[in-house]
Amino acid sequence: MNSARDPRIAIVGAGLGGLTCARVLQQHGRHVTVFEREASADARPQGGTLDLHVDTGQAALRAAGLLDRFHALARPEGEEWRVLDFADATLLAHQGPSAVGGRPEIDRGQLRGLLLDSLTEGTVRWDRPVTGATPLPDGTCRLLFRDGTAEDFDLVVGADGAWSRIRPALSQAAPRYTGVTFVETGFDHCDTRHPDLARLVGNGSMLVKGAGRSLAAQRNSNGHIRAYIALREPENWHVAAGIDLDDQRAVRTYLLRMFDGWDESLRYVLSNSDSGFINRPLFVLPAPHTWEHVPGVTLLGDAAHLMPPVGLGANLAMLDGSDLAHALVAESGIGDAVRAYESIMLPRSIEAATSSAPGLDHLVPATAS
Ligand SMILES: Cc1cc2nc3c(=O)[nH]c(=O)nc-3n(C[C@H](O)[C@H](O)[C@H](O)COP(=O)(O)OP(=O)(O)OC[C@H]3O[C@@H](n4cnc5c(N)ncnc54)[C@H](O)[C@@H]3O)c2cc1C
Repeated sequence: MNSARDPRIAIVGAGLGGLTCARVLQQHGRHVTVFEREASADARPQGGTLDLHVDTGQAALRAAGLLDRFHALARPEGEEWRVLDFADATLLAHQGPSAVGGRPEIDRGQLRGLLLDSLTEGTVRWDRPVTGATPLPDGTCRLLFRDGTAEDFDLVVGADGAWSRIRPALSQAAPRYTGVTFVETGFDHCDTRHPDLARLVGNGSMLVKGAGRSLAAQRNSNGHIRAYIALREPENWHVAAGIDLDDQRAVRTYLLRMFDGWDESLRYVLSNSDSGFINRPLFVLPAPHTWEHVPGVTLLGDAAHLMPPVGLGANLAMLDGSDLAHALVAESGIGDAVRAYESIMLPRSIEAATSSAPGLDHLVPATAS
């Protein structure tokens, strides 16, 4: 049975969206448990830098009472961006922080740490991979765990990202490959070890576009530069090419051939990075993606609206989390709360997914522009 007084709320996934939801719920005195498949907060590096927008990511942090702590960690100078010509690395476009305004950058790991630290101890149950959710006839939902156990909740929130195990309870939609993969690599102590690259990237990020290939590099905290080598290639291009991604020399040789004709200062990204290469194929959910309300279960963030990485996904996931928590606090019943949340979140994410769909073509044009 649904209980408006002390509902049992489970969030699956300790990403930015799930943690924001948990934090706002706890601020309003609600009990919540977050189930995360990873063994600990430090189980894997969390990825690059994010710019948080005033009306989405920052609004969510304000609701979570964490905006001041965010500003203490954030890098306003990181808003700077440059577009360079692939053939000679000359500057084609540049925007400094003051012109952009209001979108400071923060390392994803720092932001996640901020949210984790704000939660009551024991809120996140680490090493609890979920395999699925079954809505029950009485309006509650059964959560199934990989170890074969199950637990019933008044509300299960799927905040488990692109490959959500909760989504099938609501929708048959599945992510599809966009045709673009990001090959990630990195540079440490860039100002002393890689000063020419550090100058090209500046305080923020750099984008260089060619036909079917782009290079994006972003300055993270502690002098680290993270680079994405964007390729319009099959998802497993390296397998087709017979390349072992752990064989750095082979990857570098292959990529350098792909970037033939690019300025040497840019090819440096391929030949001199400190870390190895990680292939990150980009997937999206069909847009629009929506579902009929099902009692006892809902989605937020990438689980609901996986879209190309054009700077919205994390911001929207956090806003979803905050909106859902507020609805749960404001409404007397869980069903009404989830309907209220979905009536805001679904149209918003449909609009964002539709408008961001061409963004990848802009980022990695199929032909030379
Ligand atoms: C290269 C790249 C760059 C990006 N840059 C930006 C940017 O600049 N700005 C921006 O706003 N967005 C950006 N995004 C998008 C952003 O990363 C996502 O939209 C955001 O992380 C979604 O947050 P989430 O909380 O919904 O999901 P996630 O961050 O994916 O978190 C999901 C959590 O669920 C856990 N989980 C998954 N499956 C299970 C399971 N079965 N059981 C238990 N736990 C599970 C995962 O371990 C994870 O902790 C970028 C994405 C990419 C790929």
